[in-house]
Formats: sequence, C-alpha cells, structure tokens
Amino acid sequence: MAKPKVAFYWCASCGGCEEAVIDLNEDILKVTDAVDIVLWPVALDFKKKDVEALSDGEIAVSFINGAVRLAEQEEWVNLLRQKSGLVVAVGSSAHLGGIPGLGNFWTRETLFQRAYIEVPSVENPEGILPQEKTDIGIGELTLPKFYDTVKTLDQTIPVDYYLPGCPPPPDLIMNAINAILTGQLPEKGAVLAPNKAQCDTCPLNETKPEKISIAGIKRPWQIKIDPEKCFLLQGLICLGPATRSGCGETCIRANMPCRGCFGPIDGVVDQGARGLSAIASLLGLEAEEKMPDEDVKKLISQIADPAGTFYRFSLPSSLLRRKRIS
Ligand code: SF4
Ligand code: SF4
Repeated sequence: MAKPKVAFYWCASCGGCEEAVIDLNEDILKVTDAVDIVLWPVALDFKKKDVEALSDGEIAVSFINGAVRLAEQEEWVNLLRQKSGLVVAVGSSAHLGGIPGLGNFWTRETLFQRAYIEVPSVENPEGILPQEKTDIGIGELTLPKFYDTVKTLDQTIPVDYYLPGCPPPPDLIMNAINAILTGQLPEKGAVLAPNKAQCDTCPLNETKPEKISIAGIKRPWQIKIDPEKCFLLQGLICLGPATRSGCGETCIRANMPCRGCFGPIDGVVDQGARGLSAIASLLGLEAEEKMPDEDVKKLISQIADPAGTFYRFSLPSSLLRRKRIS
C-alpha cells in the first residue's frame, strides 16, 4: 500500500521548527518509515514543479511553519493548501505570527531602513535596498514582494490544526503525526496541546498568591531568581496565566518566566490583553481599593517594552494586528 505523502514547508521563521523535527531523534526513522516525504526544503531537494505535478489533495498533510511575509510564501502555502488533505500550522509564527510578527510594529520602509542602512554592522553608503527586479545586463534578477504586514498562516489559507510553541516540543509533534496516521484527530481547528493554562501545570503554582503586592517590576537579569517561588511574586512578568500549557514548562523549569509562546487557551481572542488583565488583577489594579494612580504609573513604567512583552508571539493574531499605517 502506498504510504501517505507528507510535506514540510517553512515561511517567515528562524528555522527552529525545522530543528524541532530533527529533535525527534530516532523517532524520525519511524516517521520516514510510515510516510513518503514529498517536500522538505531544509533537508531534501524537491522543487516547486514536483509539488505542482501532484494531484489536488494528494499530499495527506502539510506541516507549515513560519508566518507569511513574502509573496513567494503566499504562493507556496496556496499551492500546498490545494495539494493537501490537511494543513497543520506548526509553531507560534504560523499559529499566531510569532517573533517575525513583531515586524507589524513597523512598516516595510522602516524595517528596510533599519536592517540595510542603520545597523552598525552594515556598510551601505549608497543606501541600496532590496529591489523586486534588478537588471544585470544578461537578464533580470527577481526577489519576492516583501509585504508591509506579517500574517498568520490562517489569515492566508484555511488551516486544519495548530501545533503551538516556539518551537513545538518533539513529543507534541510526534503525538500529532501519530494522531494523523491513525486518524485519531480532534475536531478541525483544534490546537494540538492541552487546553489548560501554564499556571495550572506549573511546579511553582502553590506559591502563586491570589493578590500580590510588589515594590517594582524587574527583568530576569536584574535579580537573583528564586527557583522555588512564582515569578510574579518576585516582580517578574510571567505570562503563565495567559498561556496554554503543553511545553512541559520548559522555561519555568529553567528558572525563566513564561513568555507566552504556546499562545492562549481556547476562546481567548487576544493573548496580550488576557496577559495584561491577568497581571493587572493580580496586582490589585482592578480591586475596589485601587492602588493610587501614581503608584500604578510607576509600576507600569517599569515594564520594558510592554507591547513586545505582552504580544511577543501573537501580534498578527491579536485584535491590534499591526501598528496603524497612516
Ligand atoms: S505566574 Fe508563572 S511562575 Fe507563577 S504559577 Fe503561573 S506559570 Fe508558574
Ligand atoms: S514556558 Fe512559556 S515561553 Fe517557555 S516554552 Fe512554555 S509556553 Fe513557551
């Protein structure tokens, strides 16, 4: 019997989700025994024409990581959607926009200005910026269009399932592959991870108070972190209350607060707003006996880069989506 065909593709990502597939270690042999990989740009030399030659729906499942930033990525994901029975958004960039989605705080022009002209390591006195077409005498070189706005995968094509994380841990990837191979999948649209918040599974949960009174908000490098105490109690922003569990509390067990890469639990439309509201209520900012405005302002001003902190992985999928372009 023919093995099911599987594709792996990457869009705007750092490559970490590709590494996570390699991190399956010897389990990757089970995967290659069970499926026929028809596309995997990071590891195998298949071409676009190979995918175009397949029938519609012939690929059983495409695992696509990364956000959609370029016209080329948009073309590829549309092609894979057409050729695939199932599409799984892998990792926080495909799922929510991820770190590349922070580019939505700027425009293409301001990003190019920074990356190709201003950064100290760049030597570009003529201010040359990437062009979509460049005549080189013997022909024309082309680059794909760079969009102003980063999109999540499901803002571009319909997505069947989501594998969260930056990157998703190997056990969740393997569970997803097994569920697909055995047809034991949940309802379409599901995130393939537990529908519980990090705080519910966190080993420090017992020390998390109902309300906290802290003198100031700190960044991890500013204090010696006590590994036995809830990070919030130590004045560190931990997005555990607003983040889905399933990563094995990787950061927390390494003595670092959760930064939110698994995204929100079901039903939460804006992870950043949920994080802000969870922390505001813990700090008593929503209590009847309100903190004096001056103290609130002082505390809030101590949060470095609040937008980047609360929307680190989820800006394109949030209600904000991007900074307004005037
Ligand atoms: S806020 Fe963070 S450290 Fe505290 S219980 Fe929740 S996940 Fe754990
Ligand atoms: S602890 Fe938070 S930031 Fe770290 S891997 Fe888990 S969900 Fe992601």
